Amino acid sequence: MDNFGGGMIEVQDLRKSYGKTQAVAGLSFRVEPGEVVGLLGPNGAGKTTTMEILEGLRRPDGGRALVLGRDVSKGLQPVRTRIGIVLQSSALLERATVGELMRLYRLMYPEPQDGTALLQRVGLAEKTDAQVGSLSGGQKQRLAMALAIAGNPDLLFLDEPTANLDPQGRALLWDMVRERVAGTGRAALLTTHSMEEAQALCSRVAIVDHGRLLAVGTPAALVNEHCPGAHVSFETEAQAPVETFAGVEGFQSLEPQPGRSRVHFAAPRLEPLLASLMAAQVAHGFAIENLSVERSTLGDVFLKLTGRELRDA
Ligand code: ADP
Repeated sequence: MDNFGGGMIEVQDLRKSYGKTQAVAGLSFRVEPGEVVGLLGPNGAGKTTTMEILEGLRRPDGGRALVLGRDVSKGLQPVRTRIGIVLQSSALLERATVGELMRLYRLMYPEPQDGTALLQRVGLAEKTDAQVGSLSGGQKQRLAMALAIAGNPDLLFLDEPTANLDPQGRALLWDMVRERVAGTGRAALLTTHSMEEAQALCSRVAIVDHGRLLAVGTPAALVNEHCPGAHVSFETEAQAPVETFAGVEGFQSLEPQPGRSRVHFAAPRLEPLLASLMAAQVAHGFAIENLSVERSTLGDVFLKLTGRELRDA
């Protein structure tokens, strides 16, 4: 508990079980002013439970969590108006109109933002008089974002905010979150199982599985720490014998493709890998076409730490 104080969110050894299921099993992390932090993990990792505890919707069994300096176990009422929650779109009142909901939300906060401008920003200005129930899934999600920031909150919670959005909607929402947080004293915590979202939006990512923190850091730092190095692959002749490549540093696999083969290598450092590849090419005379060099991604880090592909998660 020594490091407590000053953060937007401070979580120490947080625990929550449902019967025999340990959903959150001793989680610790912080969110500082100016940060967008992503909880990245497969389904069932405990992300939503953690968020709901921090939103004041569930009580933890153990550990401690401060939100805007307030201990969640004492209730978040004193800081409630400084928190914005992007609700799952299914939680919106279906019978109200878009404009009515916006008015209602703005009434709950001491310093609300301009509701008309917000609806315009999320592309729903023409839907002001439409019933929420008549909106598409993507429109509801954009409305949920506008409502969450209507009160001009210091801290935003987003639970899988772009799960139902098309690419344009995702980009809009990412922009809105970034604008709200970057260079300000505000912050956002989101859950996602999209590596792309984590990489695009989060200043830091906490990888969680089975209710535990596996790693935390900037996307680049996580890649450098857990999956340093480079992947190199190229195409060569069909039916190239695997023995030709097996002795080359970092050889991973030979993948037969129609009319050719693709050879994959990975190594901690790119330069020695390319040097030994070139030496092998001189010795064996194989073709190198469509060479590609890639750095590891957060997805590789995730696979290494959890043993699972993020897309299956
Ligand atoms: P995530 O958001 O990462 O998918 P959750 O926090 O929703 O994870 O769930 C973590 C674990 O707790 C899962 O095993 C899930 O089945 C269980 N769980 C979540 N909510 C409940 C609940 N209300 N009752 C019983 N078990 C639950």
